[in-house]
Amino acid sequence: MALATIDYQKTKVVKGYTDRLLHIDLTDKKIEIKEISPETKDMFIGGRGYCLKLVYDGSEASTRYDSPENVLAFAGGPFCGENGFAGTGKFIIGSISPLTKTFCDSNVGGYFFPLVKNAGFDAISVTGKSDKDVIVFIDDINGTIHIEDAPDTESAIYDAEKLVDVWRGESKPSAIAFVNAGIGSKNTFFGCINSVYYDPRRKRCRAKQAGRGGMGTIMREKGLWGIVARSDLSKGSSNQPVDKARLREAGKGLRNVLRERDPKEMRLAKQGTTALLDIMNTNNILPVNNYKFGSDEREKNISGKIFEDSIFEQKHPDGCFAGCNLACTKACENHQLLTGPFKGKTVAVDGPEYETAAAVTNLGIFDIPLMLEYAWYCDEYAMDTISTGVGIAFLVEAFQQGHLTLEDTGGMELKWNDAGTVFELLHKMAAGGDGFTRKVGRGIRYMKGWIADRSASRNGHSRDEVLKDLDLFAMETKGLEFSMYITKESLAQQGGYGFALKGPQHDEAWLIALDQVKNEMPTFEQKASALCWFPLFRTWFNIVGLCKLPWIDVRHPDAAATEDPAKNIPTVDLYLELVNSTLGTEKTLDDLLTESERSYLLHKLINLRQGFGTREYDKIPLRAMAPVFMDEFNDRKDYYKKYLTETVGLDVTSMSDEALLKSLQGYRRDQYEILMDTVYAAKGYDSNSIPTDETLKRLGFEGEEYFQIVKTARQRVAG
Ligand code: SF4
Repeated sequence: MALATIDYQKTKVVKGYTDRLLHIDLTDKKIEIKEISPETKDMFIGGRGYCLKLVYDGSEASTRYDSPENVLAFAGGPFCGENGFAGTGKFIIGSISPLTKTFCDSNVGGYFFPLVKNAGFDAISVTGKSDKDVIVFIDDINGTIHIEDAPDTESAIYDAEKLVDVWRGESKPSAIAFVNAGIGSKNTFFGCINSVYYDPRRKRCRAKQAGRGGMGTIMREKGLWGIVARSDLSKGSSNQPVDKARLREAGKGLRNVLRERDPKEMRLAKQGTTALLDIMNTNNILPVNNYKFGSDEREKNISGKIFEDSIFEQKHPDGCFAGCNLACTKACENHQLLTGPFKGKTVAVDGPEYETAAAVTNLGIFDIPLMLEYAWYCDEYAMDTISTGVGIAFLVEAFQQGHLTLEDTGGMELKWNDAGTVFELLHKMAAGGDGFTRKVGRGIRYMKGWIADRSASRNGHSRDEVLKDLDLFAMETKGLEFSMYITKESLAQQGGYGFALKGPQHDEAWLIALDQVKNEMPTFEQKASALCWFPLFRTWFNIVGLCKLPWIDVRHPDAAATEDPAKNIPTVDLYLELVNSTLGTEKTLDDLLTESERSYLLHKLINLRQGFGTREYDKIPLRAMAPVFMDEFNDRKDYYKKYLTETVGLDVTSMSDEALLKSLQGYRRDQYEILMDTVYAAKGYDSNSIPTDETLKRLGFEGEEYFQIVKTARQRVAG
């Protein structure tokens, strides 16, 4: 039943923009269409920039994830939906996160936002809370937008085709795409949002996920089951670039690079991101047993080649949006579920992606059917595969270390390579669970405090002492669980995780491959410099609605001859062609970086306003910098002895292994502190990671409110 409806006149996309925002207030069931001002467009561009601006304007320092005024923002960007170029189905979902308590966002691909844009909107903002579960239906074909009762199902993806059939009316199934969040989003703090679209080749719905930061949790907290878009993209490009021929030429150039290089490099079009499993295992980066070890001989059972040859159905190309021939969205068409409420059913599994597979190896499990099981259930429940897996891995290690007991876990013994317990926890968490599993669903930062309280009273230690022990291996920073790369041997990626404004997600700075695998930034200065350039250029992809993989995962053959091959500048030049042919501008790379820096700075300002964002929030656990325990050190003892001799200058022959480990830990901690100082200065921040007034002015943040935010942060740090 429709609870509110408006008729609307669609605005056509011109030069990548509609300049309109769809605003939904769920408390009052109000639907409004607003203009996006030229100032906002110039300053924040789209995508993450628009989400940041909407969340900044709509919230205040006291806003929490469940506050009615918290804005759940969705935005594509000027290139979202351009089918003449690869990687253009991406959009961003941003809000004040239940995990980090400040702005967090997640990007995801698929047809949802291209359809929303075609229906006339550059962004959607949702505020308020509904008294019952509802959906928002944007119907471009009938020219209406309405709010109606949610479908009578808690299933996020199992029933997807049936829902598409109901919603599509006379249209083809591909005219429907939607975002939604399942029951796990309701019951945990790391709920993800599924981006669901119909794939005519596979004749079924596909689902991609905006995984990080609990965006699904916020959606369900608002009483929003999902948003449905109905529009018709069959008439070709809807993006209306100024110079279509120039754009098509650039798009062809990029597609040629992908076609030529991917089969010789990562084979993403055949293996998806499972291609990373071998690379990470070979280079001691694949997380095993809560990031303790970086490699395991059982990896041969789950390699990308096995996925390519036996698991992924290869009949069709798998782009998550039209025009992407990197086509990494692989899928297994038949997996019979082994556990849980759907046990015995045969389902199609989208993925697993590398992050999902590595979340399973991090639990000591190297088994493809179990990886498929984990991927499908996390998507169905709408729970972030990373936070879920890393959270359980932390509990296993805490149990093994004696900080957690059977009494705490309700009789559940936690150990490595124990799929039975992992799936029991997963299903219970999703369903809301008993006391223990409900708590687990609140994330590692919460669990640290809970364990410290119980362990301290049981063992007579102080709470702070227990917390200090847990902090060594609790893989979270800023409240967000680490994504799936071991960073002990990559100072660049340590900074990439620690300084990332939303928490340790590789989205902002994926430097591990460039630093550790390819050794393309061997000096301290190169790593520090990379931590300025790469986060900004990667932010640019998020503000314009583009996928980064065609740029960072496939190198242009001409890049090798450039000054800094890691930046892949010949491909960047193709992106500049996309920009200028769409917008009718002559922007340079420096212009793009400045645009990114503005959004980056607004994110920093939100973090500071919410009471975070200073140096202490960039600290990372020791496990991210060095081995914590002797068995971890012994696993690579020869390597560490060589490192301490050659890099630190120690005479290791006269030292005990315990003394060597202590020296290594101390050295790594010092290096990280020096890195903080160097990168903050280069970014125009003070030593507490607070932007200087000059930095605000340089980027056009002239309003008194911004100066007040940094002033208050400085006072807070000064005590
Ligand atoms: S590279 Fe993969 S994730 Fe990126 S747009 Fe293409 S299919 Fe989607």
